[in-house]
Amino acid sequence: MTPSVVRTSAILLKKHDYSDTSLIVTFLTRDFGKIQFIIKGAKKKGTAFEYGSCYEILFRYRQGHRGLTLLRESHLVNGFPALRKSVSLFYCSSYAIELLDAFTEIEDEDVVLFEMMMMFLTQLGISRDLEEVIRSFELRLLLHLGFLGETSFCQACKQSFRSKVFLEEKNGRLFCENCARNRSEVFPSEVFTTLEDLKKGRPVKWSENLKKEMKRLLWFYIDFHLEKPLKSRKFLTESNGRSVISIQLSADRKRVFY
Ligand SMILES: [Zn+2]
Repeated sequence: MTPSVVRTSAILLKKHDYSDTSLIVTFLTRDFGKIQFIIKGAKKKGTAFEYGSCYEILFRYRQGHRGLTLLRESHLVNGFPALRKSVSLFYCSSYAIELLDAFTEIEDEDVVLFEMMMMFLTQLGISRDLEEVIRSFELRLLLHLGFLGETSFCQACKQSFRSKVFLEEKNGRLFCENCARNRSEVFPSEVFTTLEDLKKGRPVKWSENLKKEMKRLLWFYIDFHLEKPLKSRKFLTESNGRSVISIQLSADRKRVFY
């Protein structure tokens, strides 16, 4: 296919120095999936390329190239400034960026993923409940990419879940109380009725226990499918397992609203 000059929106996922003046960056583009670019003279020109910011970019697209592409032009469209005002918001956006990066391949076109990320970054800046925004993002990502499996009924008897749900750790499959053999992970059925509500876009009332259980389930599936641990996750959780972000949020939001 002949290369053509294209223009698209792109969110910055990764960057590192290439030389004194150049940068290597990974963008999630709206129309061409994830692409690695070299930006010559980026530092000389004083252009700030920030994680999670959205740019409009111009480059020569060669399908199946997979190597470094030279970025011709870029300008900032949305820097999501609200996310840079607080440490906890920055941690949350870093985590979502790392998660999305870990679950995607170079040049795998997916406009839904791009829109999902844009929506997440926007909601993060205005929401008062960061855990809820993160859980929804994790869930949408896993569902969209097909990493959540069948969560609506027991994998053996095909009945809906009534009280407790049992997760077989070795294969990630879910069973009811009657059919479960390896009872290593147990979840309340409330988690799965909530999953159905979220899938259908119904409003959900998040109790503290529901958030905790949903996190345990989603993090199981994330770890189950990823080969290496996510570096940014430690910033979301203290050593005792309590969430840091809810503690920091009250302090951060005070600064913003009072
Ligand atoms: Zn069953």
